[in-house]
Amino acid sequence: MREGIHPKYNQVKVKCKSGNEWVTGSTKDEIRVEICSKCHPFYTGSQKLVVEAGGRVEKFNKRYGRK
Ligand SMILES: [Zn+2]
Repeated sequence: MREGIHPKYNQVKVKCKSGNEWVTGSTKDEIRVEICSKCHPFYTGSQKLVVEAGGRVEKFNKRYGRK
C-alpha cells in the first residue's frame, strides 16, 4: 500500500445559512454553503418567491451553474 498519495476522504457536515445540515463525503473538515436544496426557491415549491425574484433567479442559476 502506498500511503500519503490519496487525500483522506471523510464524512463531513455541510452547514447551510438556512440552518439546514447534512452529511456528505469530502476531503474537507467542514463545508459551509449559502444555499441548499431546501432553501432554494425551486425546491421549496414557493412559486410566488420564484416569480418575485424574477431576473435574480437567472443570475443565481448562472452563478451556481444550474441549468
Ligand atoms: Zn439552505
